[in-house]
Amino acid sequence: MIEISIIVPIFNEEKNLPLLYQRLTAVTVSITNKYEIIFINDGSRDDSYTLIKNIAKADNCVKFINLSRNFGHQVAVSAGIDASLGQSVVIIDADLQDPPELISSLYEKMKEGYQVVYAKRKSREGESVLKIFTAKIFYRTLKRITSINIPVDTGDFRIMDRKIVDVLKNMPERNKFLRGQISWIGFNQTFVEYERSGRSFGSTGYTYRKMIRFAMDGITSFSNFPLKVASFLGFIVSFVSFIIMLYALYVRFINGHYVEGWTSLMISILFLGGVQLICVGIIGEYLSRVSDNVRNRPLYVIQESNL
Ligand code: UDP
Ligand code: MG
Repeated sequence: MIEISIIVPIFNEEKNLPLLYQRLTAVTVSITNKYEIIFINDGSRDDSYTLIKNIAKADNCVKFINLSRNFGHQVAVSAGIDASLGQSVVIIDADLQDPPELISSLYEKMKEGYQVVYAKRKSREGESVLKIFTAKIFYRTLKRITSINIPVDTGDFRIMDRKIVDVLKNMPERNKFLRGQISWIGFNQTFVEYERSGRSFGSTGYTYRKMIRFAMDGITSFSNFPLKVASFLGFIVSFVSFIIMLYALYVRFINGHYVEGWTSLMISILFLGGVQLICVGIIGEYLSRVSDNVRNRPLYVIQESNL
């Protein structure tokens, strides 16, 4: 029986892999010798995959999954979760921003009677001011508009009990926002704080585009607030329009001094058009996710693995 599974998504991490493997093995062996490290190669374009295969050849605690292309971080982690056999499962980034040594604190904390222990960043280094700022705003907004308690300043670095993993595996949604799903599951969850350093080597795989999509996935998966804003906007605009209509009728028929209203017409048409497009856009965001789910394609495709 495997005690700990360690899930590591890999996207262009050739420079980080040797040290990562060494540090992961060192810390895990200090906990148990019944462990597995699962590397998920998420369509890397460098030599990561060759390295992973070599590591796996030499060490039979190492498993790998090679996805058929780049599916994104959340999906890569999900592939690892599906394959994991351990009683506890750790998710960790490959770039050494999450210090592997913290795994022993996470594990110890879990043994105090928790099912999830996540690593909460006390500080972040080596990331752009804009990234830190947008992340701060995003997590705080998300917290306000969702009914579940998604912890702020937390990535996916965490340890989970098998019970949580089994529930998670049965949540088939496509647009994964794992940290939200895990909070949603409940049980006893707690955290351990750490200082997050910068990347060791390489550059971030999360472009702004991927980050925005991820943020939208988080919001749409856990909150209907934007939809409510859309209908609220509708009410406000209708109400204001109604008042203006009364005013227009008044000046036209009673007062007699009506303005030739090109300016006001243009403004109201453009304003209404804008509001309508925003609302349709919000609905579109939700609808596109509904159709993603209805298509029912597999979440990822495995090209090769040694499971
Ligand atoms: N990653 C991945 N697929 C991607 C992007 C990233 O598997 O499309 C992996 C990456 O190799 C790393 C982890 O996800 O192990 C976190 O990514 P990254 O460090 O680039 O994100 P950041 O820390 O900048 O948010
Ligand atoms: Mg990183």
